[in-house]
Amino acid sequence: MSVQVVSAAAAAAAKVPEVELKDLSPSEAEPQLGLSAAAVGAMVPPAGGGDPEAPAPAAERPPAPGPGSGPAAAAALSPAAGKVPQASAMKRSDPHHQHQRHRDGGEALVSPDGTVTEAPRTVKKQIQFADQKQEFNKRPTKIGRRSLSRSISQSSTDSYSSAASYTDSSDDETSPRDKQQKNSKGSSDFCVKNIKQAEFGRREIEIAEQEMPALMALRKRAQGEKPLAGAKIVGCTHITAQTAVLMETLGALGAQCRWAACNIYSTLNEVAAALAESGFPVFAWKGESEDDFWWCIDRCVNVEGWQPNMILDDGGDLTHWIYKKYPNMFKKIKGIVEESVTGVHRLYQLSKAGKLCVPAMNVNDSVTKQKFDNLYCCRESILDGLKRTTDMMFGGKQVVVCGYGEVGKGCCAALKAMGSIVYVTEIDPICALQACMDGFRLVKLNEVIRQVDIVITCTGNKNVVTREHLDRMKNSCIVCNMGHSNTEIDVASLRTPELTWERVRSQVDHVIWPDGKRIVLLAEGRLLNLSCSTVPTFVLSITATTQALALIELYNAPEGRYKQDVYLLPKKMDEYVASLHLPTFDAHLTELTDEQAKYLGLNKNGPFKPNYYR
Ligand code: NAD
Repeated sequence: MSVQVVSAAAAAAAKVPEVELKDLSPSEAEPQLGLSAAAVGAMVPPAGGGDPEAPAPAAERPPAPGPGSGPAAAAALSPAAGKVPQASAMKRSDPHHQHQRHRDGGEALVSPDGTVTEAPRTVKKQIQFADQKQEFNKRPTKIGRRSLSRSISQSSTDSYSSAASYTDSSDDETSPRDKQQKNSKGSSDFCVKNIKQAEFGRREIEIAEQEMPALMALRKRAQGEKPLAGAKIVGCTHITAQTAVLMETLGALGAQCRWAACNIYSTLNEVAAALAESGFPVFAWKGESEDDFWWCIDRCVNVEGWQPNMILDDGGDLTHWIYKKYPNMFKKIKGIVEESVTGVHRLYQLSKAGKLCVPAMNVNDSVTKQKFDNLYCCRESILDGLKRTTDMMFGGKQVVVCGYGEVGKGCCAALKAMGSIVYVTEIDPICALQACMDGFRLVKLNEVIRQVDIVITCTGNKNVVTREHLDRMKNSCIVCNMGHSNTEIDVASLRTPELTWERVRSQVDHVIWPDGKRIVLLAEGRLLNLSCSTVPTFVLSITATTQALALIELYNAPEGRYKQDVYLLPKKMDEYVASLHLPTFDAHLTELTDEQAKYLGLNKNGPFKPNYYR
């Protein structure tokens, strides 16, 4: 049975559209809400997906009933928008997550029919924080103090160097907070390392634009109509050239943006400068202290005469800050779009506690993100990360990859293609069988640990590589992690007096045993690719397009369409994101004939797969 979360206020105010369960099994059945056409606007490509410039197709089925057909959505649409097929939004249907959210019966308001009634949207009543006042005028040293009620998320401190800086200004010790800077138009509403680096940053952004075709297509299609007109988006993401392309696209679609970094190391200073130069209030620099981190977020939010009505977050820190310091802002905020596993997890926790007071889109679990970010991104970046740190040759090397999920599959494919001999460890017989069918030897780690040249973890689990394994590895074995958390390799167990650590390069440590054996530990067990290499722009394009569409959708959805819960991006929009990237490859998509569409029970314009398809 699915559990429907209904805000008392929203339920009274709006009739939720009919549930469409055609392709869902009973256990996966979730209420599907009609999607406002605003999200795809006039931008949905023709079936066949090829030309993003082509006009939107006529709808093959009528718009879903309910608030979505109301004037709010229509106002944001081009004349053609009325013809756009309506997709369906779906709450996360992963039974595991449903279970997590409801397993302890935390929601006291579950009715016998499975409906959960949230407390009304009185933020004040729900959220109380002891330390409502935070002074920023005293700055701590580099390693920030943990004076705040909650420290920044792990993702905000994980080292992330997605691109080399051309304009390294690390010798400039002056804190950006102590500098008086203005852009060429006289604005000082930003705080970056050095505004003079803007020109370099602009070049980086222009290079990224070449590999972000979907965002560029959205910009073109949105000329004239501005689906984000009036949107005031506060964002907290990695500040890289790819994010800059996203921000400038949001600007082109009509939004005002203010931005901070979600990671204290990942900001590209020159890109931040370029954004500030072109008028975006950006508050970020590489190497912020923890206090700087929160100060930057606060400068984005706490502005006289400007209040955000949308949040784009990566890691949940921005959302947390607004909940903590400015809960009343949620009265005006229409929705949250969250990118990361961590942030999504927090949103589900808030939802479970009945404290989520606006709708949220879980971008992390959209199909396009998972398939491309996890599989293809890792397939390309694993080699890059290993090469940059070790200059190693892959041919003939013996590698063991722990975990054969999306990330593991990507790593294995890349290494196999380079001529490595690849072993796989798995706990799940299905993934294990896949590994066998793909031609890999399935082993226990113990069986190969003495002979392998490289160990790569990508399980999302902890202590997969233990001290015992590390003790048994051969001399010069390279050990690294591609999973989210830095606990997959028990790095802590290596910090014992008998072992010597030698930092041989940035992100490369030799850990030396008393007998002289040394292992090569990369990025101290943190994500190798995010720490030591770049992530392909094209993959980020897919994620960024998903974020843009989720913002457009939530911003334009009429009151009541989305409730105070966490939603997955509708399959239709996932498909749309993919189709916007097809022209890059001159790919020609086959169109269903009427007869075939009828035979399969599909709309010719999609969605082509059930919502649970992964
Ligand atoms: P997944 O769930 O598809 O795959 C993980 C696999 O590991 C599963 O098949 C699971 O059965 C297996 N596993 C779990 N414990 C194991 C153990 N002790 N030994 C062997 N196998 C074990 O997840 P995924 O999408 O492949 O992601 C894996 C991790 O990588 C996650 O932490 C994810 O957040 C992270 N990730 C990293 C990147 C990156 O750029 N590096 C990108 C996306 C995701």
